[in-house]
Amino acid sequence: MTLTHPEEHTADDETLLHEISAAVPAYPITPQLLSLFAVESDSAMLLAGPDQRIQYANAGFTRMMGYEDHEVIGQRLIDVLSGPDTDPQLIHEIHHRVLQPGGQHKEVLSYTRAGRPLWISGIVNPVFDTAGRLQHVVYVLSDVTLAKLHEVLQYKVLDAMLHEESLAEVMALVCTEIERIAPDLSATVLSVAPGGERLLSLAAPSLPVAYSRLVEALDFDGETPAQWFEERVIGDAARDPLAAPYRAVMEPFGLAACWIHPIHAKDGKVLAAFVFYFRAPHHPDAFQRRLAEVCTPMCALALERENTRAHIHQLAFYDALTGMPNRRMLYSQAERELDEVALAVSTLAVLVIDLDRFKLVNDTQGHAAGDALLREVGNRLKRGVRGIDLVGRLAGDEFVAILPSCSVEHAAVAAERLLNAIAVPLGLEGGVVNPGASIGVAMFPVDGGDVDTLLRHADLAMAQAKADGRNCSRFFNDEMNRVAQERVALETALRHALIDGQLSLHYQPQLHCAPGNSLYGVEALARWQHPHFGQVSPERFIPLAEECGLIGALGDWALAESCRQLADWRRRGIDVPRVAVNLSAQNFQDVGLAVRVAAGLRSHGLNAEDLTLEMTERAMLDSGEGVQTTINAVHALGVHLSLDDFGTGYSSLSYLHRLPMKELKLDKSFVQDVSNSAAARSLIHSVMRIGDGLGLKVVAEGVETQAQFDFLRERGCAVVQGYLFARPMSAEGLEHWLDERRSWAPVI
Ligand code: C2E
Ligand code: MG
Ligand code: MG
Repeated sequence: MTLTHPEEHTADDETLLHEISAAVPAYPITPQLLSLFAVESDSAMLLAGPDQRIQYANAGFTRMMGYEDHEVIGQRLIDVLSGPDTDPQLIHEIHHRVLQPGGQHKEVLSYTRAGRPLWISGIVNPVFDTAGRLQHVVYVLSDVTLAKLHEVLQYKVLDAMLHEESLAEVMALVCTEIERIAPDLSATVLSVAPGGERLLSLAAPSLPVAYSRLVEALDFDGETPAQWFEERVIGDAARDPLAAPYRAVMEPFGLAACWIHPIHAKDGKVLAAFVFYFRAPHHPDAFQRRLAEVCTPMCALALERENTRAHIHQLAFYDALTGMPNRRMLYSQAERELDEVALAVSTLAVLVIDLDRFKLVNDTQGHAAGDALLREVGNRLKRGVRGIDLVGRLAGDEFVAILPSCSVEHAAVAAERLLNAIAVPLGLEGGVVNPGASIGVAMFPVDGGDVDTLLRHADLAMAQAKADGRNCSRFFNDEMNRVAQERVALETALRHALIDGQLSLHYQPQLHCAPGNSLYGVEALARWQHPHFGQVSPERFIPLAEECGLIGALGDWALAESCRQLADWRRRGIDVPRVAVNLSAQNFQDVGLAVRVAAGLRSHGLNAEDLTLEMTERAMLDSGEGVQTTINAVHALGVHLSLDDFGTGYSSLSYLHRLPMKELKLDKSFVQDVSNSAAARSLIHSVMRIGDGLGLKVVAEGVETQAQFDFLRERGCAVVQGYLFARPMSAEGLEHWLDERRSWAPVI
């Protein structure tokens, strides 16, 4: 059949039309009617010559593709349709198989005159003359974009889901397909972050990562997530007052308009939403709306599947009552931790925590009260451990904590802390209960190399704790039990020591190296004399105080006591130029430190330069902004800062010049190696040069021999401290030492 322009029909057409008219006499088909059919059809119809160059294009083609017919006459259709993502192989086939009997039916991604991608279904039919020569080619095209997008998406999304790709990947895939078809918009998917308070950016493949960060900082602006995700259009973000909260997210990325389109589950619940952005003020057109509708069911499917998966995971790996990891989860996590700890040649503690007399609560106050108690204990345990630790419920009233990178001493402190946390009275429906628990501890690797053995041994230790009177902890290993019990006893004793005044300060003189060796100052060193444990070394009780939260009180005490003592000496005419107080890294994390130092100095009538604060390099290592602020505030008071044990930490010169230090204390380990180590000698030499360069006074500690002293003095060391001159002494002892010294001629 040949199609002709209304004015140009031929004799052949006439014959054909006659035949058709004879077959359907009620509707005589005239050539005019047939031509009108071509003109009015919604499908695009084109006629080309044997060279496949277009001779005629109907109005349907103009509507679909945006070209006027004079723009395409003389062109090849395959050239007119092709664009960036058109399949070249397909185009090649269409062109070269035009003689194929019965014509061709192809679907091809094409581009409108404006460059918009369009899926086109085309039928190509050759028309031959009676001698079998190609006379015309007829093309009938229809727009199948949405159907095709649906098909492509369905295939791709199902394939991605089959390959267990993540939800974010599936959503990004949908967005990318949408953007391919509608390049003037940026497609994104938002859902609700865990906790239900904030947005979660699931996919935004064409926007920078910074967009996702900004959008995830947004909350739901007083609405529920379902309300926020309702269909709405902000056609011009610069003007629309509704856009105010979102401008900060849109403006930096040049997004001028947006449109939120919810994604519903089958039961109507809102799961998430598409947010489409436009770079110019815009309201979505009919095509874009259809596009969104076509894509929504695929997204809903992926989201629902994810929710189901999360639910199954929750049921399989979490305890329904407390929401904590269950036995299965604990085992798999613990195995992973064990592998890591073994690789790092570290230790790990497994704590089995069993509630005492839980049955009594269940029996007397009912199961609801029992459940509430278990939930609360679960919460207390979660709050009582470090971020890297793992807690879960094994069964009934039995919980487990797994503490990676944990020493015996730390495990003992942790068990004690958990016992205290559990023991806080709890108001339940049937009255107040005083919960208690027994804890058994097994250590990896000594007590077992796998989770089963460790749990079994921790369980045995827990049974021992019950037998020993409940509400206590026991280690599986006897030696560890002893260490742990001593540790717990020591911690309790230290708490009392601070209150009962068992702590005192000893003072060690620091002398100028310059001739005369006048007194530069004294270093205050804490001493603890315990009635049962005897003299406990600061090397032992300072780390203990740091771990059990007593270091703040200890630091405050040392500061107050040093100030009091110095003021007392001044009043009595005893000339001590300054006192140096040791503080821990944690003391410098306390932003109130400078205020208390100022108050301490003031209340004893002292000046800032009477006090030096010694800090170790570690304070800088764990430092956040808080430490730097405290150091600056202390410096601003005029109090001197001294870097203790210099050379033993990760001496980094980069922070040295940032810190307002007055002194470097050369660690005693270098001083002691002076005579037998060339390395120590050259290190000392370097430290002196650093001190010189940065204008810092170098104080050498641990000077025990005349040879060490001579070496230091020759190298230009300013101040020395050590047993060669004096040991740390009580305040009274120091007074005697000063007295005696006055009667000496300088011996050094
Ligand atoms: P440090 O601040 O480096 O104190 C110097 C240590 O070297 C003191 O040990 C001192 O007794 C010892 N020492 C002094 N001269 C010599 C010597 O010639 N030879 C040898 N072998 N040792 C000497 P001590 O008193 O046992 O203190 C140990 C550490 O405990 C101190 O090291 C300090 O870091 C910490 N410390 C002491 N008191 C306090 C305190 O009140 N607060 C804080 N946070 N830490 C303190
Ligand atoms: Mg010191
Ligand atoms: Mg030191």
